[in-house]
Amino acid sequence: MNKITNWKIDNDDLHVKQKCLICNNDNNEILGNVNYNNLQILQTTICNDCGLVWRSKVPKFSWFVSAWNTRNKTGESNDILGMSKMVEIRRKIRYRAIANNLKRVTKGMTHLDIGTGPGRGLKEFINLGFDSIGLEPDISRAEVGQKEGLPVLNLTLEEFIEKNKNKKFDVVTVVQALEHMQNPQEFINKIKKVLKTNAILYIEVPNAKNFIRWQDSLYMEHLYNFSFNHIAYMGGVAEMLPKYISFPRTVPFGPKHLAVMLVNSVNNNFNAKMKSSNLIYDIKKKHMLGLDNKFSFPKEFNIHKFDDVCYVSKNIYFKQIKDNVFEQLLKKPNRFVSAMKHRIELYQRQGLSGFKDKLFGNLFYKFPKVFNDKDFISPKLIEITKEYIEQEKWI
Ligand SMILES: [Zn+2]
Repeated sequence: MNKITNWKIDNDDLHVKQKCLICNNDNNEILGNVNYNNLQILQTTICNDCGLVWRSKVPKFSWFVSAWNTRNKTGESNDILGMSKMVEIRRKIRYRAIANNLKRVTKGMTHLDIGTGPGRGLKEFINLGFDSIGLEPDISRAEVGQKEGLPVLNLTLEEFIEKNKNKKFDVVTVVQALEHMQNPQEFINKIKKVLKTNAILYIEVPNAKNFIRWQDSLYMEHLYNFSFNHIAYMGGVAEMLPKYISFPRTVPFGPKHLAVMLVNSVNNNFNAKMKSSNLIYDIKKKHMLGLDNKFSFPKEFNIHKFDDVCYVSKNIYFKQIKDNVFEQLLKKPNRFVSAMKHRIELYQRQGLSGFKDKLFGNLFYKFPKVFNDKDFISPKLIEITKEYIEQEKWI
């Protein structure tokens, strides 16, 4: 593996986004800074009105494009390119569950998937009778699907609209892609152009509530973290109505993501309640519990080596994920943990140093090598009602 660690980045490659995309105000607070060899390359901010978390300082899209090309040319490991066997198996299972849910509520079967990767998820839609097309701007991934005969186009949404002026779909899916967009609202507005009246837009994102910890500040490719309110609000701007919600997982026992299905309606009387104090409090609390559980705010990271375009410091990132997963497992015992219960108690009683690592060695050893549908909880489709919104059940 030819690993790149000395990524080049300078001030001209960066831009600043001071105002909240949703509220357009300055009532914000900095959650974290990342400095790379004395240059501040990332800043993470929370809106004190709506709880949106975003990279208020981040590389421009042009920098990402050139970094992806560099990564592609130098032949990074398959895992880093997101083309590992495991990722592809997970992709299939996720798309199968999504397609099943969508089939129950859609009126027609034409389907566009934006950010489709190599497009293997499209196969699951096609198997259920959908007439699918996938868009993937990254040539290294699009080509893989094309070679397998999958309907993947190496185009951005703008380019697709330009080439197919009147083409409209019954279903558009954006699976784990909206949080990567430089301007999610503009992106949703563009999607509107390819939706038939009453068509469905399925958006799946990491649920802000479950994903924001301090290490989020290091995740360079995630430019935004959304709650249901944010998706509903942006949909509302584009005259789309949230109709269904579900909470899928992308890995077995993993945290729950957020999926919102919006209907392209001309009449949108949904008013997203934007003030969400509980969410804001929760996010801040999690951010403050940083390295070594020391309370400090905001977090400052100084990095001299750049592990990847995606997470600037993979080691720190994954170590903290491991700790978080461990804490979650202890809180919510599942069938997997109950088998390890005795060992956990033993370690806890003895207070052995490094017991987490020992435990995790065992846990990962026992993790299924190949994932099946049964390893995932099938996301239930929940109809969004007024009561549901008032009770803030998605939080
Ligand atoms: Zn806001």
